[in-house]
Amino acid sequence: MSQSKEHIVVFDTTLRDGEQAPGFSMDVPAKLELARLLDALGVDIIEAGFPIASPADAEGTFRVATEIRRPVIAALARCRKLDIEEAAKALKPAERKRIHTFLATSDLHLERKLRITREACLSAIVDSVQFARQFTDDVEFSAEDATRSDRDFLCRVVEAAITAGATTINLPDTVGFTIPAESFDFFSEIRRRVPNSDKAIFSAHCHDDLGLAVANSLAAVEGGARQVECTINGIGERAGNASLEELVMALRVRADRLPFDTAINSQGLFQASQLLSKLTAEPVQSNKAIVGRNAFAHEAGIHQDGMLKDARTYEIMRPQDVGQTADQLVLGRHSGRHAVAKRVEQLGLTLSADELAQLYQAVTTMGEHKKGIGDNDLRRMVERVRAGQHSHA
Ligand SMILES: [Zn+2]
Repeated sequence: MSQSKEHIVVFDTTLRDGEQAPGFSMDVPAKLELARLLDALGVDIIEAGFPIASPADAEGTFRVATEIRRPVIAALARCRKLDIEEAAKALKPAERKRIHTFLATSDLHLERKLRITREACLSAIVDSVQFARQFTDDVEFSAEDATRSDRDFLCRVVEAAITAGATTINLPDTVGFTIPAESFDFFSEIRRRVPNSDKAIFSAHCHDDLGLAVANSLAAVEGGARQVECTINGIGERAGNASLEELVMALRVRADRLPFDTAINSQGLFQASQLLSKLTAEPVQSNKAIVGRNAFAHEAGIHQDGMLKDARTYEIMRPQDVGQTADQLVLGRHSGRHAVAKRVEQLGLTLSADELAQLYQAVTTMGEHKKGIGDNDLRRMVERVRAGQHSHA
């Protein structure tokens, strides 16, 4: 079965797009610590920084390129000579390196932001890709705001970039504007219309402004993209990028509909999420898919009862598959008798049917005021029940 699956290249940009988001900046030692973990996680490419942006960015990229040997190390550069030279300098020690150069292609960006013509844009792209190829054979070109670019012009740009030597073509949904069916059509159409499209790997880089970054990336894969750009915990500009852990697990859990595989060791996902949260002092929302504290917690009585009978009733993947600890049946006012009895048993306590009924009553009462009843709370309640303090008077 695994033979029929196509490989999806995981391009992690936590250290570049993620790091440039408010509240997520990291110093060089923090970047290195995270880069080591991304390597262990199995990402194919680590985008380590945007060297021209600041000396710290250049230093971070250089250090990652020096120490991390297995993955390809990428550095970002605008379509300018100086940017590309700085990227090449920072990547110099890398075992495997990629220069990632970008320029906006939408009329809105060309006219209002860059104030250049389409023709000037096209020639800057060709010159920059050719220049970047002098430093490495692995050159990625990104057409910023691709999803809002004129389709005919974008096709010309992509064809020219590939002819100039780009080996990966990234078509970002820079502003998080696309919807999934459109993303599928977009990638399918560009690949069909560009005559030399088979000479490059197409890549999706989706932002989450409408909460669709992962869905749009998966649709892009179905439309022929073979690289996804993503970040741990989905961090990134504004609402963030496509979340690496969600993409990886969607491909794994729904392999029946998505016959693609990644090289990610999914059991390291939770640890990567926790490390990023620690390094940036930014908490992960508790209901975050895959890596949130509550992603495998069950409180409703009906759900807890189902889980105890057969976990597949309410669970599409096992917590240990993503490195989370075992299922948590959270005791609270929504809990059922079955879950309370099970927890008592797990704590090694034996109660009579009457004591259990009293304990269940106490749990639901306490759950009215307290969020999540812990094992120590439960032990205290059991003691009180045994002491007769909870008997119905
Ligand atoms: Zn981005």
